[in-house]
Amino acid sequence: MLNGTTAELVERKALRINPAKTCQPIGAMYAALGIHGCMPHSHGSQGCCSYHRSHLTRHFKEPVMATTSSFTEGSSVFGGMANLTQAFKNIFTIYNPEIVAVHTTCLSEVIGDDIPTIIKKSIEDGSIPAGKIAIHANTPSFVGSHVTGFSNMVMAMVNYLSEKTGTTLNQVNIIPGFVEPADMREIKRLAKEMAVNIVMFPDTSNVLDGPLTGQYKMYPEGGATVAQIKSAGDSIATIALGHFASHVAAATLESKCNVPAAFLELPIGIGSTDRFISALSSYSGAEVGPAIELERGRLVDLMSDLHQYFHGKRVAIAGDPDQVIALTQFLVELEMKPVYCITGSPGNQFEKRMHEILDGPVPEAKIKQTADLFELHQWMKNEPVDLLIGNTYGKHIARTENVPFVRFGFPILDRTGHRFFPTVGYMGAVNLINQMINVLLDKKDRECDEEWFELVQ
Ligand code: SF4
Repeated sequence: MLNGTTAELVERKALRINPAKTCQPIGAMYAALGIHGCMPHSHGSQGCCSYHRSHLTRHFKEPVMATTSSFTEGSSVFGGMANLTQAFKNIFTIYNPEIVAVHTTCLSEVIGDDIPTIIKKSIEDGSIPAGKIAIHANTPSFVGSHVTGFSNMVMAMVNYLSEKTGTTLNQVNIIPGFVEPADMREIKRLAKEMAVNIVMFPDTSNVLDGPLTGQYKMYPEGGATVAQIKSAGDSIATIALGHFASHVAAATLESKCNVPAAFLELPIGIGSTDRFISALSSYSGAEVGPAIELERGRLVDLMSDLHQYFHGKRVAIAGDPDQVIALTQFLVELEMKPVYCITGSPGNQFEKRMHEILDGPVPEAKIKQTADLFELHQWMKNEPVDLLIGNTYGKHIARTENVPFVRFGFPILDRTGHRFFPTVGYMGAVNLINQMINVLLDKKDRECDEEWFELVQ
């Protein structure tokens, strides 16, 4: 498919070819699924909702529920108030969720529907029954990306739900960022290992990675409860993981409820995980026990064992900004050379932080926000790399250039496992190392001369 990509670079200002991002409502829908008993609602036409649901379903291999305002030509001209009010009535009558999380689409944003007013009127006229809740996030796809949509919906959780009662609770909030259910599960496991009480929101573990029981549950066991998100206003502190996905919500909670926030990067790799564990320890006063020290020690051993295979390897990375920033740090810890690092999401913080990480060890690195896979491919044609890391769409480039490829990030549509094996924490770093070494050695096995083809590393 990408065999037609040329090596000659042409300056482009407006055109994106294979952008490394998708649209805002997908992130908002994913975040909403991390609230227990929540029905995500897409305020727009049916096509948007179908696309977002199917994209999430293909990534998570689980049926993703969401409702839609089903805009027609009439609502496109006169606004979607009647549709949303009717939708609230239908959703609470038929599907009985505890909460509905509304996100907008390009169409309803262009019309300018005033969602807070529609929610207020729907409460007054009983379309939203007493005891039920509706929240909303504005998610126009002509700005930002799916990461922005995720961030906006998490901020909406804080704005609508979190409250300060005046009694501080012995718990730490964790806003995990746009990561897999497996990552959220791993973060909870690390906190439990340290005996730290946490409130994590959103939490899609046990929602999008649940067991096959033979019984369909529209609202699975998992998810942060509304009560937990409310109580986040009384927590000791908030740990926000990832600038792009979590910063705004934590800052909002800080100003709304006076809960101090620590802004960290995703705990991918050893240094970032150390910082996460230290933050957990300092806020809660909990000791870092021997079990966690053992995990860390095993990771250090693995990094040292495989150092000869990773040292100096040129890597191209495409993905969401929080993931690329954290992964790049890990690759530098492994003494690899992330030479091309792109994200499709906009935001100057990406390039600023990436330069801080790479200007010393990899001064030749090319770093770009609002970038696309076409340009990354062109860079690789001009100066090849040893490894490509990115979402499913990277596989076209990997095949064309015969480059070892590790699937990482969102979406992964053609493989499974990402729901189950974390990439955060010390065990997540082991998982990433395992994936990288396998594809590097597989290529070596395929292509090396016979005298080098041994059954030992
Ligand atoms: S870009 Fe806009 S119109 Fe297209 S699917 Fe996304 S929200 Fe809908």
